Amino acid sequence: MKGLEGYFRILSGETKPKFMRRMLPREESKKHIEECRLCEIKCRANRKVHPGFCGARDFMEVSSVFLHYWEEDFFVPSLTVFFCGCNFRCVFCQNYTISRRMERCRRVEPKELAEEIERFSGARNINFVGGEPTPYIPFVVESLSFLNVRIPIIWNSNFYMSREAMDILSAFTDVYLSDWKYGNDKCAKRLSGVKNYWEVVRRNHDLAFDDGDLVIRHLVLPNHFSCCTEPILKYIAENYGDKVVVNVMDQYRPEYRAFRYPEISRHPTEREILAARQLADDLGLNWIG
Ligand code: SF4
Repeated sequence: MKGLEGYFRILSGETKPKFMRRMLPREESKKHIEECRLCEIKCRANRKVHPGFCGARDFMEVSSVFLHYWEEDFFVPSLTVFFCGCNFRCVFCQNYTISRRMERCRRVEPKELAEEIERFSGARNINFVGGEPTPYIPFVVESLSFLNVRIPIIWNSNFYMSREAMDILSAFTDVYLSDWKYGNDKCAKRLSGVKNYWEVVRRNHDLAFDDGDLVIRHLVLPNHFSCCTEPILKYIAENYGDKVVVNVMDQYRPEYRAFRYPEISRHPTEREILAARQLADDLGLNWIG
């Protein structure tokens, strides 16, 4: 499939996943546990002493690990590892019980996670997600060093990683799966509490595009067409053309604190979804939805 050539080469056995071909950057990633700059919040927490802004400490906290059957058909069944906590504060978080740690999180050692992954059969990939997986990069790297399954690795993220984190990810990520929410900094600040969103997320998409396969998810928010959907889809068309897969998603529901924000306190209308998909089509994107 266009945009996922590397992924399918691994699935067919033609090539190995990156983590089996490259040196894993264990030392570079471990140093972030004592002074974390893994995401662009760059809170520099010594996570051995106190949690970072995202709540991450010096061990891995997992909400669940299971075979996921409900997302893009080329990915399922996907062995999905949900990490606890997040560096964003999205008022409409669709997964807030995990990102805000309202669910029980279990501490898992890297070798245990590798063993747990190996006990599953039938998965087409391992999908690291959250909350946000970025704070756990050092432990994921460690886990992969124990893993003996020839399987593609998907990094499923809000894409607010630092440049340093992107360098580490390039050593083991076969498919970048992004959640590109906003087309400007104002919406990002207001609804997710982050600064400089467009510049960071745009840069990371460019890096991911140069490095491996890229699938971009865009969740259509009600009343955010011209400020968010349009600039994102146009940027993709101008810079990646049809060489990435774009999932124009219609399943937004007003969750968590969304009811405090009138413009997103409802489901998107059919007309809004159709407008987003029509634009993707008009721009010649390789889109699904
Ligand atoms: S990943 Fe968490 S601990 Fe690390 S810089 Fe970002 S917010 Fe801080």
